[in-house]
Amino acid sequence: MTITNLNDLVSAGLTRDSATALAPVTDQFRLRITPEMAQTTPGVARQFVPSLAELLIRAEELADPIGDHVHEPAPGVTHRYPDRVILHATQTCEVYCRFCFRRETVGAAGPLSDEALDQAIDYIAATPAIWEVILTGGDPMTLSPRRLKALIDRLAAVPHVEVIRFHTRVPVVAPDRVDEALLAALRTRPAVYVVIHTNHPAELTAKACAALARLVGAGVPLLSQSVLLKGVNDDVATLESLFRALIRNRVKPYYLHHADLAKGTSHFRTTVAEGQALMQALRGRLSGIALPTYVLDIPGGHGKVPIGPAYIQTGDGHHMVSDPKGERHLYHDPT
Ligand SMILES: *Cc1c(COP(=O)(O)O)cnc(C)c1O
Ligand code: SF4
Repeated sequence: MTITNLNDLVSAGLTRDSATALAPVTDQFRLRITPEMAQTTPGVARQFVPSLAELLIRAEELADPIGDHVHEPAPGVTHRYPDRVILHATQTCEVYCRFCFRRETVGAAGPLSDEALDQAIDYIAATPAIWEVILTGGDPMTLSPRRLKALIDRLAAVPHVEVIRFHTRVPVVAPDRVDEALLAALRTRPAVYVVIHTNHPAELTAKACAALARLVGAGVPLLSQSVLLKGVNDDVATLESLFRALIRNRVKPYYLHHADLAKGTSHFRTTVAEGQALMQALRGRLSGIALPTYVLDIPGGHGKVPIGPAYIQTGDGHHMVSDPKGERHLYHDPT
């Protein structure tokens, strides 16, 4: 059963008292858990089940933590880097993640209106620097295959758009949606890349892995993004197991995001130093192709950057480089 309200949580085993206490949380932030995710482990469930801790809103938690609205030249479009734009074709998701940096807006509306979509596509068509269109959260794969095909066809008609990238949780949280109609929509001229959002190895159920295999079979390159979350995946064993499972399923781990400053999410946030220590422990122990880049989206819309750990310190005329064990070595550029 798909859980969308507190009564559903009671049916799923929560006590009535606990559910009632959560009402102030679900009044503020939407609830939705697919059957696949409701049936997994506590570590996975923590990402979706509301918690009273969300009522603690800290001063530094901004409504738009990554500045999506700072660079919005057309409805649903975020244009921060010259060669690529984000297009928020819908606000709907299959699950609502408690830590989502767009939690203020996701679920508030469905797909962009026809008028808004026309304006967004006009902007993309009129901006030759746009090489890649990124369809992201809400979750673009909640659109019907018919709508997606129409959108992809319109983007494909823009000669300078050479890549269409999806960021989606659907193949993992609602794998049945990856059907023949969706796959057919993805077989097209601009190269389609799919970035799977997944945070815990237990999310990769047999059905999720089968959906990934269908995408690979359709010739779609797969990458992943994960969010570093306290109490979910902030230990070496869980991350190692997640990244190995992804590679085994032909998904290249792309980004590990430091948790954003979304409202009411401080219980999920690690420190940057903790994230760096985890990445350092994974380097050397885990195949290089399984290692993602640890990134921070700088609050205020200043962009995403790798945040280490740093292996090199540059002094005048020399570099001090640390190896995976932490031992330091001097390196000089040959002159
Ligand atoms: C994250 C992001 C992108 C994509 O960045 P990549 O580093 O190419 O994955 C593009 N535009 C905006 C506004 C973003 O936040
Ligand atoms: S946009 Fe992504 S992270 Fe946010 S609620 Fe939807 S699926 Fe979860």
